Amino acid sequence: MASCAARILAMSKPLVVQKFGGSSVANADRIRRVAARIARERANGCDLVVVVSAMGDTTDELLALAGAITDDPDPRELDMLLATGEHQSATLVSMALHALGVPSIALTGAQAGITTDGNYGKARIAGIDPQRIEAEIAAGRVVIVAGFQGQSRLDPTLTETTTLGRGGSDTTGVALAAALDADRCQIFTDVRGIYTADPRIQPDARQLPVISYEEMMELAHQGAQVMQVRAVELGWVNNVVIEVLSSFEDVPGTLIKEDPFVEQRNKVRGLAHDRNVAKVTLVEVPDRPGVAHAVFAPLAEAGVNVDTIVQNVGHHGTTDLSFTITRGDLAKTKRILEPIIRELGFREMTTDSAMAKVSIVGAGIQNAPGYASRMFAALAEAGVNIEIISTSEIRITCMIAEDQVETAVRALHKAFALEEPEPLVLEAGVETADTSAPKPGA
Ligand code: ADP
Ligand code: ASP
Ligand code: MG
Repeated sequence: MASCAARILAMSKPLVVQKFGGSSVANADRIRRVAARIARERANGCDLVVVVSAMGDTTDELLALAGAITDDPDPRELDMLLATGEHQSATLVSMALHALGVPSIALTGAQAGITTDGNYGKARIAGIDPQRIEAEIAAGRVVIVAGFQGQSRLDPTLTETTTLGRGGSDTTGVALAAALDADRCQIFTDVRGIYTADPRIQPDARQLPVISYEEMMELAHQGAQVMQVRAVELGWVNNVVIEVLSSFEDVPGTLIKEDPFVEQRNKVRGLAHDRNVAKVTLVEVPDRPGVAHAVFAPLAEAGVNVDTIVQNVGHHGTTDLSFTITRGDLAKTKRILEPIIRELGFREMTTDSAMAKVSIVGAGIQNAPGYASRMFAALAEAGVNIEIISTSEIRITCMIAEDQVETAVRALHKAFALEEPEPLVLEAGVETADTSAPKPGA
């Protein structure tokens, strides 16, 4: 990425994409502070595209409003409703910039040229036409883009508003940085960067100076809400270095990027936890070909995202089949599977909606044995019962009872000594000390 000075010498200003999360724009005062930060960056000689999330808990409040009207809101109408949260914050940030004498314009996702597929509630960005944004920048304006949304086009005359899934403004930010070939992509949030665990439940969590795309994707996928999975994926594919940093303090953040020293760092880089887990067990499922397909095909068709599946070894012609989903999908899953139980002849379906998962993540896990046993020992010592285990090359996940999440995270953080600085890494043959930033709130 070119520095500001280098781009100025090349006669074009450096372009910075900044994204501000909901807590950063939660009220008028914070919006004014965000505007001041943007104005400062502009005074340094940069062009800016700024993505904003909805103010504070607006998205949750809009969801609750819809829920007070109906149990089953129409997905199209719901996306139209949710997109308004980001319209509010984008216009307000732009007004705050005007008040500082900075020319700016707020754009919806559609006006910013973001097109998506037609999957309401979890649309994927299909393409970005940057013409409007580029024209506004050329006219000397800071462009404020409403995050989390785009427009699906069924045909040239029929367009619909879509949203990108919870946390989707991160994805808007990274996608715009890629499409505009930005010099920097900064995600401002309410913590200083990426930590070894959620600093809200692990006060000893240590901030990481750098994390690889792969590790961050796993952490995000396993529940570290600080970055949306899709944003990290887009960053990885397009080689966008993502800086995660605090919007409240001027301190170094965390870089998400290709990490050549990944194998030399601690084998376990961090922990993630997720409370949004429900477990379904189908008891005494007939043990014959086609049964798994009969269960999971209709769930896939209905858009239910099945996470972990465990099928036991069969005995006397039957077996038990357990799988996990998000809690929001539990009612739908039961509705779909009830007639199938009767058809296929299972004994019963049991469900548990008070589940959670904890994961250890690190690129080095794949090359070193013993991590699973250390994880299980730590959980056992802490009295945490493991219900299901799943693994990937760089991750081990245990499903546990929700009320044991905090105990589990603390026990694992300690067992893998994550609060301690990482070992020295060899950079171009020179040993460099770990450059971890201070602890949250320090
Ligand atoms: P924003 O509104 O800025 O998008 P989010 O609430 O989506 O912010 O994400 C930031 C939150 O993510 C933090 O407040 C923190 O509690 C949580 N979090 C979870 N895991 C981590 C982690 N490993 N590192 C940093 N923050 C984390
Ligand atoms: N406002 C949306 C949400 O709460 C998108 C975002 O914050 O990134 O999920
Ligand atoms: Mg977020």
